Amino acid sequence: MIQFRQAGICVFQSALYQTTASVIDTPDLVLVVDPNWLPHEVQEIVSYVDTIKGSRPVYLLFTHSDYDHIIGWQAFPQAITIASEAFVNNPDKQKEVDQILEFDDKHYIKRNYPIQYPEIQIVIRQDEEFLSFGQTRIRFWLAPGHNADGLFALLEPQGVWLVGDYLSDVEFPFIYHNIEDYQMTLEKASKIANEAQPKVLIPGHGQVCQHIPEMGKRILFSQQYIDAALRHASGEEVFEEEALLAQYDFPKGLRSSHQDNLNLIIKSNSKF
Ligand SMILES: [Zn+2]
Repeated sequence: MIQFRQAGICVFQSALYQTTASVIDTPDLVLVVDPNWLPHEVQEIVSYVDTIKGSRPVYLLFTHSDYDHIIGWQAFPQAITIASEAFVNNPDKQKEVDQILEFDDKHYIKRNYPIQYPEIQIVIRQDEEFLSFGQTRIRFWLAPGHNADGLFALLEPQGVWLVGDYLSDVEFPFIYHNIEDYQMTLEKASKIANEAQPKVLIPGHGQVCQHIPEMGKRILFSQQYIDAALRHASGEEVFEEEALLAQYDFPKGLRSSHQDNLNLIIKSNSKF
């Protein structure tokens, strides 16, 4: 279904995990981001892109390599792909592919396109790298922490900010990779929100956000969550887990993710 629509912006939302997929179009290009999950949902995005693209080139951005975000790659075989260098160098590519195959197998899902790890044509290597196409510019920042290969992208002059699996309103930070990286990525997010003043923030899961103060709140909430988790791990203070989970619509699903975060922090503390 379509969650959000505005001139040049269409945000689709999957029935699964409120995962978003975006199509941004400017006079110069059509940018598709993380097309996902179910076959009819991916098809809806393909049809939409076919309807609007005209003679414009189609680019396909992956915000990161978690399997739910790369599941639709080959539904856009002509698109020019963009992702981070760490995405290209992911040492566990087969793991992501296997997770897709397992998901489809478990749910008896057939797709009309092959499942593969995306091959990337435009590789982003550093912060503030940008691509220009006519009047359209896409600025990038590396965003590791949630996983190792995240990427923030800001489309200008439209002010559309794609953040992948950060700054969601339906889940707290999921830290699969590294807590220090996650904190640094939040610092970058704060700088981008203040300096670039994006008009629309699109998270990988949950609702888009059109107000800078709300973006600031989401950043602050993530920082506070991590601070509380760190205090818990060091034995300074007990994390009020029930109070955290009570804030969400889907507390049962989130409980184990919170536990995974705490385990990751405790494990990384014990290394020192
Ligand atoms: Zn995700």
